[in-house]
Amino acid sequence: MGLDNTTLFVANIVILIVAAAAYAWIWLRVQGERHWLCWIVSNLMFAGALTIYAARPELPVELAIWPDALLLLGFGLRLLAARTFNGRATALWAVCAPAACYVLMGMTTNSLSLNFATVNTMLALLGAAVGVEFWRDRADGLPSRYALAAIYGLMALSFALRSLQGLFIEDQIVTYIPYDILLEIHLLVALIYVAGGSVFVLSIAYERRAVALRQAALLDPLTGLPNRRAFEMALRALKREADGKGFALALFDIDHFKRINDRHGHTAGDEALRHFARACTAVLRETDRFFRIGGEEFALIVAEVTPEEAGTVVERVRAAANGCVVEVHGHALALTASAGVCHSALVGLDFDSLIEAADAQLYAAKNAGRDRTASAPLPAGAGRRDKPPSRTGPPWPDPVPVTRTA
Ligand code: GH3
Ligand code: MG
Ligand code: MG
Repeated sequence: MGLDNTTLFVANIVILIVAAAAYAWIWLRVQGERHWLCWIVSNLMFAGALTIYAARPELPVELAIWPDALLLLGFGLRLLAARTFNGRATALWAVCAPAACYVLMGMTTNSLSLNFATVNTMLALLGAAVGVEFWRDRADGLPSRYALAAIYGLMALSFALRSLQGLFIEDQIVTYIPYDILLEIHLLVALIYVAGGSVFVLSIAYERRAVALRQAALLDPLTGLPNRRAFEMALRALKREADGKGFALALFDIDHFKRINDRHGHTAGDEALRHFARACTAVLRETDRFFRIGGEEFALIVAEVTPEEAGTVVERVRAAANGCVVEVHGHALALTASAGVCHSALVGLDFDSLIEAADAQLYAAKNAGRDRTASAPLPAGAGRRDKPPSRTGPPWPDPVPVTRTA
């Protein structure tokens, strides 16, 4: 192909060092993410190995094992980095073992071609293992995983071809790194691998951080429940999915919560909110979704229910909340909550009206003395416009009265 091997070596080394500097820049800012340190050290090991290959293309067999061992150590650290990134604990010695085995073997044999075949086989296996590490967690939807898996696969393939060269045309292996057309191809693949790998390692970290931020933006930090933004998104999603029986929205508000803060302090109030959230979520069905939408206000979306079923689900959640006793400074605080419910059969998929109707019922429950549920009454025949055309069955039931658990 006429490419200059020295230029290819230098290009690889420069990219490795620049990428190591970029990783170090990140690592200094996000202390604790050990995988960055692994990437940095492995890049420097690669750069060191390639420098020796380029500067000393001929080495006696007993010295030639050392740059190879450096390359093996570098790939071992890449495996460690990929596993650490994916949350899999791995011992350092395990990823250093291939390099140690190779050195031991290299010291006992005296064959350039055997060493050449062995080191390339080991590098192919390590490269493939790193590719598999990125591939196996693809369910998390980070697009850069596919690029990393492909790049490591390509590099592993190139090492595998070199290994075949060592096994089957051993008479060509007269130096520990034969300067031939295969080296040119191999260095070109390495350039793609080093440049692409560096970019995609940065981009996968960025993608994961973006996902974490998006998820955090949808969670209430105090209770860990989905927040108001998540609630609005869930309502919009319901609009797309709504069919069958319909769904209900319940708004909950803890009764006289201000008194808890006033008498026992804000920290006790916070603990009561966490307790309330835990008690309610413990009795939810798989399809129910519970949100903290404001200070001491919560919302429950009950999917695929008739109005009567919705009333039962809401009362079960409220009963769990009412059984909630919070221990604060030696005092036992018993919480009660009020709830307002509206079924989609009443207002269809107009979510503003749905929230307004549930809120009006919550207001009614508060006015009726608190510690109860009030449901928006359904006029006869309501809800038919939102049911799928195929549905047959009885008309929607009569208004659901205000209910109170004992
Ligand atoms: P009602 O029965 O009418 O709902 O009375 P209430 O006292 O529960 O309602 P009000 O709206 O008067 O008071 C709500 C209180 O909730 C006021 C606010 O300080 C408190 N609050 C809101 N968010 C938090 C929070 O995150 N932590 C704590 N500790 N208190 C909060
Ligand atoms: Mg309130
Ligand atoms: Mg309240």
